[in-house]
Amino acid sequence: MAALSLRHTFLPTDTFGSDERRLVEEFVDEQIRPLATELDETERFPRELYTELAKIGMFGVTVPTDLGGTGATPLDYLFLMEGLSYGYSSVADQCGLVEMVGSLLAAFGTAEQHERYLRPLLAYERPCAYALTEAESGSDLGSISTRAVRDGDDWLLSGEKIYIHNAPVADFALVLAVTDPEKGKRGGISVFVVDLEQAGVTRAYHEHKMGQRASQVGGLVFDRVRLPSDALLGEEGKAFGYMMEVLAKGRLGIAGLALGISRAALAAAVQQAADRTQFGAPIGANQAISFPLATAVTELRAATALAADAAHALGSGADDAAVLCSMAKLTASEGAVRHADVAVQTFGGSGFIRGYEVERLYRDARITRIYEGTSEMQRLIISRALLPRTR
Ligand SMILES: Cc1cc2nc3c(=O)[nH]c(=O)nc-3n(C[C@H](O)[C@H](O)[C@H](O)COP(=O)(O)OP(=O)(O)OC[C@H]3O[C@@H](n4cnc5c(N)ncnc54)[C@H](O)[C@@H]3O)c2cc1C
Repeated sequence: MAALSLRHTFLPTDTFGSDERRLVEEFVDEQIRPLATELDETERFPRELYTELAKIGMFGVTVPTDLGGTGATPLDYLFLMEGLSYGYSSVADQCGLVEMVGSLLAAFGTAEQHERYLRPLLAYERPCAYALTEAESGSDLGSISTRAVRDGDDWLLSGEKIYIHNAPVADFALVLAVTDPEKGKRGGISVFVVDLEQAGVTRAYHEHKMGQRASQVGGLVFDRVRLPSDALLGEEGKAFGYMMEVLAKGRLGIAGLALGISRAALAAAVQQAADRTQFGAPIGANQAISFPLATAVTELRAATALAADAAHALGSGADDAAVLCSMAKLTASEGAVRHADVAVQTFGGSGFIRGYEVERLYRDARITRIYEGTSEMQRLIISRALLPRTR
């Protein structure tokens, strides 16, 4: 019987051939994995890694090449997210953020916005943020209160965003704001491209998190920030539709990130089960240790196949793509939390000690069930597709 290995991803790719696959694996092994413990401990922002990733064409994977992207497919993007996260999930998270903001700018931006924001973002000269969440508006995005009001040809932006990835380091942000309270989320919400180094913008604070600690997360406060009319992205009032469109890709990316955490945790656990001896035999000789690993690896393969299915659906524009992306995110993220737990248990006491990879992975996995739409929100999306007449 052939041995089962977790050394390489189970994911296929589309346009990425063996050269690109090798490039990603080498980058992960040589540049990311050796830094993960230090980044977790110090919460340092590894800008140099992101500049390197941009140089090898790994930012803006699905953005067309004529706009500075890689011009690859959602399946290639999923592969990249899984691989980077196998190295360290904060790095994958940065790639996901660039993909989301890059996709929105590419699809809805003007030629001027492409030159000013998209190209520098993909070259990692201008880090970005994506600012939706507010203190009173998390899962329920339609209830945001950040407001943009017209002032002559300009807009005045006021409000406060919380838990924003890259807020402490970003150059510009896409900010969701109400432009017509009468119309509500369908027609009354718009998205603006906001330079963060300007009067009226405050980077409120820097959060210290349970996991993915090299990801910089903080608040952004806007106090009557004057925006020119061309700061609007796409059409006024259309932002909710834009967000829904790009969130499916975001969820696919988090599915990939969660799969990478699972694979790293299970690879470490399998190694430990073979290496660690107690009672005169490897601990993996006990079914109490090997069966949870067998179940977890089976779940990981199933979650990988589902995510690849979702990526194909997204790439071909299938009607059920968004629901499949929700299923992929739900399955992979719930799996990552379970699998990291199995890995910690396999390590025993050392799994609880700082500096061991599985201890970090256990903490890093937890947020995947929350950001980019909680597991409950994914179940809501899936159940609505399943039971449309009960809505
Ligand atoms: C590390 C980190 C990074 C983040 N990055 C960003 C970012 O870059 N940009 C950004 O805009 N946001 C970001 N967020 C915010 C994140 O997207 C939200 O935290 C998330 O969407 C959940 O919103 P909430 O925290 O307000 O929870 P709530 O919406 O208050 O939910 C709390 C709980 O109630 C459940 N719940 C709520 N409504 C329902 C319902 N109708 N049915 C069943 N259950 C329900 C939720 O599932 C959850 O379990 C980030 C958050 C973190 C922690």
